[in-house]
Amino acid sequence: MLAGVIINKKTAALNRIFHYIVPADLPVLPGQIVEVEFGRQTLEAIVVELTDNAQILPEKLKSIKRLVNPQQLFGADLLALSQFAADYYLCSRASVLQAMLPSGMHLTGTMPRSQIRRVVQLLNNEAKPTGAKQRRVIDLLKAQGELPLHELLALAEAQLPTVKRLQEQGIVAIIEEEIWDGQNLQPEADNRELSAAQRQVLAKIKENFEGDNKPVLLHGVTGSGKTEIYLRLAEEFRRQGQQVIILVPEIALTPQTVWIFRQRLGGGVAVLHSGLTGAERRAAWLGIASGHYDLVIGARSAIFAPTPNLGLIVIDEEHESTYKQDNAPRFHTRVLAQERCRLTGASLLLGSATPDIESYYKAEQGEYLLCEMPKRIGGREQAKMRLVDMSREFKEGNNSVLSRLLQQKLRENWQAGHQSLLFLNRRGYESFVSCRHCGFVVQCPHCSVAMAYHQGENVLKCHYCGQTAPLPQLCPECGSHAIRYFGAGTQKIVEAVQNLLPEARIARMDRDTATERGSFEQIYQAMRRGDVDILVGTQMIAKGLDFPNLTLVGVVAADLALNVPDLRSGERAFQLTTQVAGRAGRHQSGEVIVQTYQPTSEILQAAVRNDYQSFYRREILQRRLAEYPPFSSMIRVVISAGSMDSAVEVGRKLAINLQRTLENMQAEDKMRYFGPKPCPRVKIKNRYRLQIMLKGRDLALLRTVLSRATESLRLPPDTNLAIDVEPLNLI
Ligand code: ADP
Ligand code: ZN
Ligand code: ZN
Repeated sequence: MLAGVIINKKTAALNRIFHYIVPADLPVLPGQIVEVEFGRQTLEAIVVELTDNAQILPEKLKSIKRLVNPQQLFGADLLALSQFAADYYLCSRASVLQAMLPSGMHLTGTMPRSQIRRVVQLLNNEAKPTGAKQRRVIDLLKAQGELPLHELLALAEAQLPTVKRLQEQGIVAIIEEEIWDGQNLQPEADNRELSAAQRQVLAKIKENFEGDNKPVLLHGVTGSGKTEIYLRLAEEFRRQGQQVIILVPEIALTPQTVWIFRQRLGGGVAVLHSGLTGAERRAAWLGIASGHYDLVIGARSAIFAPTPNLGLIVIDEEHESTYKQDNAPRFHTRVLAQERCRLTGASLLLGSATPDIESYYKAEQGEYLLCEMPKRIGGREQAKMRLVDMSREFKEGNNSVLSRLLQQKLRENWQAGHQSLLFLNRRGYESFVSCRHCGFVVQCPHCSVAMAYHQGENVLKCHYCGQTAPLPQLCPECGSHAIRYFGAGTQKIVEAVQNLLPEARIARMDRDTATERGSFEQIYQAMRRGDVDILVGTQMIAKGLDFPNLTLVGVVAADLALNVPDLRSGERAFQLTTQVAGRAGRHQSGEVIVQTYQPTSEILQAAVRNDYQSFYRREILQRRLAEYPPFSSMIRVVISAGSMDSAVEVGRKLAINLQRTLENMQAEDKMRYFGPKPCPRVKIKNRYRLQIMLKGRDLALLRTVLSRATESLRLPPDTNLAIDVEPLNLI
């Protein structure tokens, strides 16, 4: 018997299946991790198949050396999914398998948590203990199922290393569980009545899951009660002995969702997040693989959770771009979720208040089942939204970042004892330093971006590579003194609010303040307790938060999202505005002020009217006219090199190869390519970047053409090709 393995290394030369003999005394199974000899090295590998193919000469083969992990970490579905992803995204299967592996998981953001409880679970009932302490630990776990770590140690009169050793052998798992500080949260009743809309939608979804089992797109405005739908379905699948994976855009930003699921579904909930150490993550994965959890909550990597009997995948806020991975393998969670459901027969539910244009189009075309919940629970009105024309403010003599209307509303809201939120959609926006005299802008020497001014430290910082520089006194171009920073960064807004309301308690939340561990949680809790009157922040505060006393939201500069040179900028602007607005008046009536220099923008007008439909109509028409997705597919190739010359050389060669391939395949009228041309960010971290964009209706054709064109392409050292299938990031 032979085992086909994938070596756990991303190197292109290793991107194929290698065969090893399965020793008689070491039976292995697909999905297990083994050690094999490769050349002179001993490498970790994943068994992906067993075969008795006689064509491979056994005398040339080596034997598998060692079983690293007896658990089948990858079920048949994940092994198949890894092949699908490698083919779909033109990447190595090892890179996908690595992304699936616990140690290769990268979950972003920090997890707000108050208290940690470690629980030990028995994974292997047949385990043979060595020594009296191990036996006591195992016997206790056999009797109790699971025990908190400190209790177990006390009862077994054992120390941590004993349990750790059992953990390393895969006999027990140590699971970290958060105990949520839920004192200020409204406890959710288990058995509350569903609203009529929820009842209808739930019935429709269930009927579909039992019948056609199409992916469902649940389009429900913020506050329409989508979470309750997820909960009911999760309970249902759990009753049938199946597991549910709930995906959220960023785990740190969804503390309430996690808390609600924990509270309603109890101990059987695993939360995967970046705060876990490698060992803890591994343990959580082992627990999931052995069916100890009914529900897994996590960010995009949790799509690979090794649930043995998957019933349902929920993708909450499915339009979020965090679902697309930015480095290889550059997968979109939605694509892999759909395939995993196809492979396993599981069901897929996508939820959003502002669905992705492409998802909504699929729903229109009947590929997805569309369910809509257009009203908030309890008949509460959406917050009232208004646009303010900032160029008029300026003309009429107000050059503050806050319009007169927003100033007035902030004051009134503060006097009424309510909380306000001011949202800026980019950190340190326009806090660049420029010369009023000649227009010179201080740029990072390594990246083609303006450096941002950080007032606290009084330095300039590059947000791509972290380079810092002192603030110049004179313009390096013209020698003028008129060089200074212009900003409407979050700091600048905080200042403006301080001037306006000196006694108000103001907090700032953005990537800068959130890098310190736990600070997100601190501000979050302060906001909950009512210790903050006005919260100023970036993207981080747009999502998921639910503060009962928050009744005013100000979008400081809606144009920022609108003006990004990207085919999806309109969509992003609509989504952001709607989402931020959804933070206001969730429990009492609220108001939203949207400041803009483009008050006639149809996108912003649709957003303030809460009119997804007319936004969608307009956007889908534009996509059709420009032949953008969903009316075409795209692949982006980024060539990066240590020098512009090598980048250009590779870019030219690739373009020639593409042209030849198109001619050979007579495919010139079926697809096109654009470039090579400089990426919008030509230089990042001292590497020069060019891009070639492939576009056409048939994604499979694009892949074939690109694969052939790159086959014979020789990359000089220090040059790199990054292939992004269906890219979201075009910078
Ligand atoms: P969404 O996820 O669609 O934004 P939520 O699920 O957060 O909406 O629901 C909004 C609010 O309504 C929450 O406070 C939730 O507890 C409450 N809610 C949801 N369903 C019901 C129900 N059937 N009865 C009463 N309150 C509900
Ligand atoms: Zn100058
Ligand atoms: Zn830089």
